[in-house]
Amino acid sequence: TEEMLRKSEKLSVVGQIAAGVAHEIRNPLTSLKGFIQFMQSAAVNKQEYYGIMMSELSRIELIITEMLMLAKPQMVRYQSKSIEMIVKSVVTLLETQAHLSNVQINLVAESNLPLVLCEENQLKQAFINLIKNAMEAMPDGGQIDILLRAEGAKHVRVVLQDRGNGIPEDVLARLGEPFYTTKEKGTGLGIMITYKIVEDHNGHLLIESKVGEGTFVTVTLPIHL
Ligand code: ADP
Ligand code: MG
Repeated sequence: TEEMLRKSEKLSVVGQIAAGVAHEIRNPLTSLKGFIQFMQSAAVNKQEYYGIMMSELSRIELIITEMLMLAKPQMVRYQSKSIEMIVKSVVTLLETQAHLSNVQINLVAESNLPLVLCEENQLKQAFINLIKNAMEAMPDGGQIDILLRAEGAKHVRVVLQDRGNGIPEDVLARLGEPFYTTKEKGTGLGIMITYKIVEDHNGHLLIESKVGEGTFVTVTLPIHL
């Protein structure tokens, strides 16, 4: 009946939200675990990692705060930011994990890139999702190249290239579908969330891949005029 249909729709929305929250919180938690493992195993200058660990904890706090605000209209604050600063901080955040997986992240940015109008934490989440996918596609390690450049007069472009296992066409066609994953421990939410974030920024996401060669992800964002 109609009533039953509505109820099951509601349940699936609750389920989707729960899975989404779990996914968003797992990223900073995994990163924190990585830092703690790293600090246990190596003679590192621990002091410099505390700041990053604190900011990871702040992210978890922020996500939970936002979830509690879901009932109210969400307050999203768009600000003029440097895309290089955003991508750099994401790379710093994932560096320990990358190191443990034998992955090198190589970031090259054109100078004097214009600013983008964005919700910083959302954009960070989008790049975390993409870089994590790139790392997970290279189980034996390797290099991820990230290039930041201007695209025409009105856009900036972030190109991420991995040399991982690549994406077969049938998988490529289903990317962005919630919960579609080929990984044992995947959630299949990363790409969907990333698409949504990029679209919310009036941007464009393109994924190109060749099995056995690797994957190019291109994120194009309008600059803040
Ligand atoms: P998850 O990472 O949890 O599986 P995602 O939405 O992030 O979910 O990705 C969905 C699927 O897309 C992955 O399971 C994987 O098969 C594929 N994929 C995404 N990015 C890449 C990549 N860089 N290289 C290879 N496969 C990828
Ligand atoms: Mg993923």
